[in-house]
Amino acid sequence: MMKLSFTVFAIHVLLLQKYVTSSHVDVKSRTNSIQERNILCTLFSTHRMTLHDNPEIEPTEIKPTICCVMDNNKSISVINIPNDFFKLKKFVSGKMQLLVPTSSIKTQTSDLDSEYTLHHGVIDLTEESDFIVLQDNKIRKLSPKAQTSDLTLLVVRVTDNSGHSPKHTVKEISDHVFGTDNDDLNLVIGYKECSGGKISFTGNVVELSLDLNVANLAAEMVEDYVTEKLPSTKSSKYTNVMYVLPNEVKFNGSAAYAGLNHYLSVFKDYYVSFQFLLMHEIAHNLGHHHSGQGSFAYGDHSCMMGLQTYTTTAPRACFNGAKSWWFGWYSDRHTEITPTSQSSRLKMLSINDYLNGEATLDNQYTVARIVGQNEIDLYVMYNRAEGVNSGVRGYRDQVTIVHQNAESQASWLDAGLSEKGTSQWKKHNWSGTGNTLVIKVCNIVSGAPDYAHVIVYLDGVNYLSCPLGTPDQSSACPSGFSKLEVKVQTDNWGNEVGWWIKEKKTWGKYKGKYQTILRDNDLQSNALSTTVKCIDDSKSYKFKITDEGGNGTCWQYGRAWYSIRVEDVTKKISSFNSPIEVVTFKVS
Ligand SMILES: [Zn+2]
Repeated sequence: MMKLSFTVFAIHVLLLQKYVTSSHVDVKSRTNSIQERNILCTLFSTHRMTLHDNPEIEPTEIKPTICCVMDNNKSISVINIPNDFFKLKKFVSGKMQLLVPTSSIKTQTSDLDSEYTLHHGVIDLTEESDFIVLQDNKIRKLSPKAQTSDLTLLVVRVTDNSGHSPKHTVKEISDHVFGTDNDDLNLVIGYKECSGGKISFTGNVVELSLDLNVANLAAEMVEDYVTEKLPSTKSSKYTNVMYVLPNEVKFNGSAAYAGLNHYLSVFKDYYVSFQFLLMHEIAHNLGHHHSGQGSFAYGDHSCMMGLQTYTTTAPRACFNGAKSWWFGWYSDRHTEITPTSQSSRLKMLSINDYLNGEATLDNQYTVARIVGQNEIDLYVMYNRAEGVNSGVRGYRDQVTIVHQNAESQASWLDAGLSEKGTSQWKKHNWSGTGNTLVIKVCNIVSGAPDYAHVIVYLDGVNYLSCPLGTPDQSSACPSGFSKLEVKVQTDNWGNEVGWWIKEKKTWGKYKGKYQTILRDNDLQSNALSTTVKCIDDSKSYKFKITDEGGNGTCWQYGRAWYSIRVEDVTKKISSFNSPIEVVTFKVS
């Protein structure tokens, strides 16, 4: 029934990692007979996108399933996976193989009593303790990593012998996928635009007729028949393959599904015409999981891996910060921030403007990744709704923060920040420091390029403030603390000016030493900046301001000055006469 190929087996046998069960196999003693008795297949997670009838209702995720794909491309469902199955190594779809006795493959029965029911293979792991999991870095059908790729796509329009066929003709499907008949928003254009030309798809649509009635058969089963009938010499010439099945096939509530890092996606009928679903399913093939928010797996509407509109003509939209980072299309303007060691002032770019070559300055970025020990990585991006991303459904023109554990994992949206709405997001006890991470949008600037001015700092460690005009800490200080206000007016050489305030420690390891509580070394020229912070009434402080150019000339010819006030008491006003000035003061 199945042709099995074990040509690669000898390479793997030394890499075997036994799955530990009470009755695990002894690999060495079995190697002689292993080839006749076992099946080796690659494990993929399959992700289903729900049929979406009501845009007001957030759909719940259909739980991803695991299938195992053999060398002949045939897929076997793996069910009842024990909880500790993936404990040995973190499961990465397409990078793990399963070795099971041939006898463990059962056939799944459909609820229809027909001659076709006993077809789709199933491995039930509760009944099977005699299996081995292999790590494999060289997987046969792993879709290429997408940073820059010429991809090839074969679309198979499937009909049956009983008059069932997808609504769209080959010509129409070709138009939706490849734009061959003037569909100006299609899969090829979508990836070309979002990637800035780094991803190109070529390919074609073919017909395949099955000699059976597909009505009410499960999609996985029809998928098997198509895979069996499609010459693998044909499909193996393509990096990606897409099946379009008639509407009568049972998809169990999903519109399409695709394997993560796999080559295959399967569409229910006319859903292949929806731009969002095309982009979404292919992104699964390219190694991306979903983009969720709260308890909704597709709840991040700033991303194609969340939920967008189901229409043929929309949306023009791309991906969130985490997915964009891993796609790597804008990586020359990525930045990584470790808040425990540095604060950052970022100009987060409109992706559209970046792709138009409008980024010019050093601190303009597409995606900022914020990392810390024992913290899940955060990704910050300006979800500007223009050009290639003009049709994005949610968090339009906001700075989005998402977290994602690693490549190919689901991402979760933490916040959408804007100048006038919620402008900052905090995470307490960042990296176990006891200090709060603050990500704040100061202002959003229109121009060439459009960007959002964002500051990232660890409160109490490397504080940053927004420029004047963006309200900061206006509320009163708690008892025992007083409000410190530092104003700095720069001249033409603001970029050479920096200042800090340190607090003298009164206990602990650093007793008697000064620790920075405020710092700003990225001042704009000819601008007044105001920074406010509550300081401890019982402590001593030191303020230092320097001209980084070191020659002091910036002070001599400009109209620069600074002032330090605590509540209503002025501690210092100076118009600078030297390149470095230091002021020590106490609250009272
Ligand atoms: Zn999906």
